[in-house]
Amino acid sequence: MLDKPSSKNTAPSKKLSDLLDQFGAALAANDIEKAVDCFQDDCYWRDLVTFTWNIKTMEGRDQVRDMLKSQLSNTRPSHFAIAKGEDATESGELIEGWISFETEVARGFGHVRLKDGKIWTLLTTMAELKGHEEPAGFARPMGARHGSGKNRPTWKEEREREAAELGFKTQPYTVIIGGGQGGIALGARLRQLGVPTIIIEKNERAGDSWRKRYKSLCLHDPVWYDHLPYIDFPKNWPVFSPKDKIGDWLEMY
Ligand SMILES: Cc1cc2nc3c(=O)[nH]c(=O)nc-3n(C[C@H](O)[C@H](O)[C@H](O)COP(=O)(O)OP(=O)(O)OC[C@H]3O[C@@H](n4cnc5c(N)ncnc54)[C@H](O)[C@@H]3O)c2cc1C
Repeated sequence: MLDKPSSKNTAPSKKLSDLLDQFGAALAANDIEKAVDCFQDDCYWRDLVTFTWNIKTMEGRDQVRDMLKSQLSNTRPSHFAIAKGEDATESGELIEGWISFETEVARGFGHVRLKDGKIWTLLTTMAELKGHEEPAGFARPMGARHGSGKNRPTWKEEREREAAELGFKTQPYTVIIGGGQGGIALGARLRQLGVPTIIIEKNERAGDSWRKRYKSLCLHDPVWYDHLPYIDFPKNWPVFSPKDKIGDWLEMY
């Protein structure tokens, strides 16, 4: 399905777009005071990697100012806009919407809530590194190799060779300690980026950290909030799926 273009037509979208234009122009001009002036006094900016290369929450204008003083010149953000296919919504004094933006090295996605026309909460997250886009969608690998190749290894043979050599003949760039969902999700992402990685898990089987918990445990959140990258949980799974089902899924993943 094609994304519908973002709209500046609705009144809340127009207000959010104007604020993003103002914020983006202040950042592009290195005018930190003007950028800080786009925020409420009582404001929260949570950044996942894009500006801070860390997970940080700036609380209040002073912390926003300090972070920008240290990071703005390296980050060089641009292209702040309402995300493609999204519209801002308005409820009472709040206007909110999903946004996209770029930095010098990455494309980002985020969310903003305005109160009285100024930023109350801002979330900025990194979606992908420029030049290291994941091979997915139209960029996915071809798989089949046409033409003849007598001794060409199959996918299975290549997988087996990789497993036999990684950590022995070829050394990983990254070692992840702990193969819970955080570790295996990170491992999956690194694989897509072509970074050789080994995950070390103290349990015998992946998923055991779920299996070994108390008997009646089910997910505490609905299953659709809990997807791992690339492979969503099946659509017919119970809302609060039981622990052993989750353990088996993590092992398969
Ligand atoms: C009862 C309960 C219900 C939950 N329900 C939900 C939910 O519904 N939805 C949701 O999103 N989140 C839920 N969570 C939270 C979620 O489980 C955690 O946020 C998530 O597991 C954290 O992932 P992790 O990989 O960081 O840590 P963990 O899943 O704890 O994984 C850490 C792994 O590291 C291994 N390890 C530890 N030390 C070492 C070592 N020295 N060497 C090798 N391996 C080691 C462990 O065996 C484990 O497998 C729940 C948590 C609990 C406790």
